[in-house]
Order: sequence, then structure tokens, then C-alpha cells
Amino acid sequence: MKVLKFGGTSVGSPERMYDVVNLIDNDESKIVVLSAMSGTTNVLTEIVDLLYKNDEKALEKIKQLEQRYYVVVEDLFERANFKLKGKALIEEHFKFIKSFTQDAFTAFEEKSILAQGELISTALLHLLTQELGVETVLISALNFMRTDKDGEPDQFYIKENIEREIASHPGINNFITQGYVCRNSFGEIDNLKRGGSDYSASLIGVGVKADEIQIWTDIDGMHNNDPRVVSDTYPLPNISFDEAAELAYFGAKILHPSSVLPAKKANIPVRLKNTMEPFVPGTLIDAQKNGSGIKAIAAKDNITAIKIKSDRMLLVHGFLRRVFEIFETYKTPIDMVTTSEVAVSVTIDDSSSIEEIKEDLANYGAIEIDKDLTIVCVVGDFIAESKGYAQMIFKALENIPIRMISYGGSRHNVSILINTSDKEEALVSLNENLFQNV
Ligand code: ADP
Ligand code: ASP
Ligand code: MG
Repeated sequence: MKVLKFGGTSVGSPERMYDVVNLIDNDESKIVVLSAMSGTTNVLTEIVDLLYKNDEKALEKIKQLEQRYYVVVEDLFERANFKLKGKALIEEHFKFIKSFTQDAFTAFEEKSILAQGELISTALLHLLTQELGVETVLISALNFMRTDKDGEPDQFYIKENIEREIASHPGINNFITQGYVCRNSFGEIDNLKRGGSDYSASLIGVGVKADEIQIWTDIDGMHNNDPRVVSDTYPLPNISFDEAAELAYFGAKILHPSSVLPAKKANIPVRLKNTMEPFVPGTLIDAQKNGSGIKAIAAKDNITAIKIKSDRMLLVHGFLRRVFEIFETYKTPIDMVTTSEVAVSVTIDDSSSIEEIKEDLANYGAIEIDKDLTIVCVVGDFIAESKGYAQMIFKALENIPIRMISYGGSRHNVSILINTSDKEEALVSLNENLFQNV
């Protein structure tokens, strides 16, 4: 069994949907995990924002999105009866979305609306396979994808329930399901956060003990640097789970930050492939070691740095524990840490509880907060006794003010905190200095 996840652009137009059907039309047993058509989740998010504000423009936006789907249906299906079925399906989903413009709008309604993108794309692909005579079964992620009371995937529940879903359709090779959508521990509709379809694919892969998890997207694999910022990047044929996890966590948008870990734990290879160029090998992520040295760079924006300065830290044990406990209380992960005798600096990317954290930290010393920062993360396999990596990195960044450095925490990553306004220059210079001979 394989898991094939197709992202937004891979189902973003009727033409792309045909490509997906061609890619899945074979005897291999597989679960196809789909994102919403590109742009849809963004528009649904805008609709949700308007509904929270009780803004009447919400209905207008809903109707515009609905019209876009009628055009898709018209182009996607050949035969009149399939066009009709497609239209009815869109009508039904949008009737549901419109029903939320009537009453009080809460998180429950929000999540139900955000799930519609994936529910629509999977229903459309399922209908298309019917028109094209490719046998598929549509299974709802709402029947097996679930998070626990801490918001973490409930792997046991997922495994039991996806196995049950599959076993109830003997002889079927092709299953289609939604990425991103799930239920929470109360059984309510929820989601795995933006970009979460990759995470769904990985959790499903683990649940069914897949041979391979394939992430099909709009680029030919994991590149050595952010292709949105740097022009001459290239795909990496092979990287380890640890390297992929660092890159995804530190901003390589091609993978959701949490998606590598479940695959790593279950030792299931993850292959990144380009829907537009299916014969290009892409990137294989697995447990193999594949050489040492610097492999790639990623960057994560919207970072906040917090410095706690206190004389009381001098020679006192337990200070760091108390500081870290405050972040734990507000469920705020820390990315980077540096300490000196009298101060500790940490970075966070979730600043939703920053005011509360600041207030609690003030009991321990003077607090300084800096916003609009970026962590640049250089990833590879840095064997402890290797020399020269740090020098190469800092030579490349000689003209850029550096706020924090983290080296040695893991052998896969050197992290450098800079102002976001310097990010482009930093990534370009690192590219020229670290990869010029590749
Ligand atoms: P999908 O909609 O298929 O999930 P995403 O937009 O989430 O696709 O991810 C693919 C995009 O990730 C690429 O188009 C590329 O611009 C961006 N990206 C950022 N960093 C990297 C990287 N290191 N390698 C490849 N792609 C990257
Ligand atoms: N549709 C969701 C999003 O745009 C999930 C995904 O595409 O992975 O965030
Ligand atoms: Mg994505």
C-alpha cells in the first residue's frame, strides 16, 4: 500500500485533476490524500474572518467562490449527467457554507467551513474517476482522522479506524480521502492547521503501514534553498528524515513541519514528486545516511526573541527551569536558546500568549522583546570533529547583523537569528558561499 498526497496546485485545475487520475490509474493499492484546490483554503479563511465580524461581504465572497467551482465543473466533466452531478455537489456544499451566515459564529462553524475545500476536491475527483471508469472509493477523513485532548494526532484511533474503513471495501485498490480535515477529541470537525495535508498523508501512511508516502506538489523535490527567495536552487535527490524534519520545521514550505516525524518513527520513506513532471525522480527522504556536510538552507519568519536579564541567575540552579515552565504553561514551543551568566534569550514563533508570558517572566528579571525576526537554518550532517562549517557560514553572513546563534544542539542544524529585512541578502549570500562548487 502506498499513500499519494496531492497538494493544492496538483488539483488546482481540471487539467491537473486529469493528471492525478492518470497517475493513480494502475493496479497498485493506494490511498490518495487530497488538499483543497489551490487558493480555496485562503478564500475560506477570508470568509471565516468576515463571518466573525458579521460583515455582509461574506455572502458575496461565498457566492464568488461558488461561481468559480461551477466553471471548474463545466470544464472537468465531459458528459451532461456528470456535469449535473458535479453542479449538485457544489450546490450542496455551498448551501451548507451559506447556512452559517444566519446565526452566531463560533470556532465550531469556522472549522466546518474550512473543511469544505478538501471535502469538495475529493468529491470532485471521485466523480471524475467515475466518469473516466477508474474504480475508486471515497472515504471520509472525518471517520478516522482524530486529535486527542492535547490537539495531537491520536495514532491508535487513526490506525484502528482507517484499517476498518479499508477492510470494509475488499478488492478495492484506490481509496480517496481528504487531507487537513480531522475531528478533535470532542468529535467536532477540526483541522491539522495550514498546510496540514502533508501531515494527514504521513499519519495515514503510518496507520496503514504504507511502503511509501508520496507528496506530489508543484516542484521537483526539496531544494537546497528557498526557491521563492533565491533563484539558482536545485533539488536534493536524497536526504535523511532528520535533515528533512529540520528543513520542514525551519520553513521549507514543501513539507508541513510535523509531517516527517511520524514517517521517521515508523521508518516509512517519503518521496517528494512533481505532478507536472512525474518522471523526474524528486527527493527521497529515508533513514539512509547520505554524506556529511552542508545540504540545504531554510528560513522561518515571524519569530519573536525574548531576553530575560537577571543578576539572580548567577550561580543559581533552577532558574532556567522556572523560565521554561512559563513557556510550558502557555503551550508555547521555544526554538532557539542562548544563555550567558546574567541573561537568557529564547525565540518563539507562536506569539499568541506573548503578553501573559511577558507578565510571568517579569517576576524573574528585566524583559526585552524583539519582533520581525527570521531564523535561518543551515542543515546537513555536521560530524562533531568536522572543521570549517561555522567559518563558512559566518563568512557568508559577514555583512548581516546577527542576533542569536545556535550550533551544536543537533548535528543537523546551525540556526542563526537575523532581522527579517536581511533575510533575502542572507539566503542569497549563503547560497553563493556554501553551494558554489556543487
Ligand atoms: P502544496 O500546495 O502542494 O502543498 P506548497 O505550496 O505547500 O505545495 O509547497 C510547495 C512550495 O514550497 C514550492 O512551490 C516552493 O515554492 C516552496 N518551497 C519553500 N522552500 C522549499 C524548498 N526548500 N524546496 C522546495 N520547495 C520549497
Ligand atoms: N488546504 C489546506 C491549506 O491550504 C491544507 C493543505 O493544503 O495542506 O492549508
Ligand atoms: Mg503544502
